[in-house]
Amino acid sequence: MGEGTSAHKNPKLRLVPAIAHGTVIDHLPPEATLTVANLVADADDEVLIGLNFKSAHLGRKGVVKITGRELSAADISRLAVIAPHASMAIIRDYKVVKKAPIPIPQAIINVARCPNPNCVTNHEPCTTHFTVEQAEPLIVRCRYCERDFKAAELHLL
Ligand SMILES: [Zn+2]
Repeated sequence: MGEGTSAHKNPKLRLVPAIAHGTVIDHLPPEATLTVANLVADADDEVLIGLNFKSAHLGRKGVVKITGRELSAADISRLAVIAPHASMAIIRDYKVVKKAPIPIPQAIINVARCPNPNCVTNHEPCTTHFTVEQAEPLIVRCRYCERDFKAAELHLL
């Protein structure tokens, strides 16, 4: 205990170190932050995680920085499911070149299991496919059983 308190007294010190190139996922709900870090990081990615930072909008938030790369379409689909209100910034040479809310895809393909236990996708090997019916709040429809689900009901693969 007591370690790191000096960091909080220096307003110029970044809570999570800046990265030269990569992606910053910000405004994450604290409870989703570690899940996001685990889901989007590949085995050899360097990942920096900040948890429970004060945020004017959220009260507390999490930040995940991934060095060296931008996110794949599958990563972005996963993010849209578990943290649809997060923001994402692309960093090049320590500068933010693009910052935007997480783009909600039109379809979520092979990143989540269908919550309907009777759905064929839970009984035969196949690629799951949800179309986005509504972005806010996020509602998706399974292409196979044609049922609608809230994003929070989906279990990521
Ligand atoms: Zn289904």
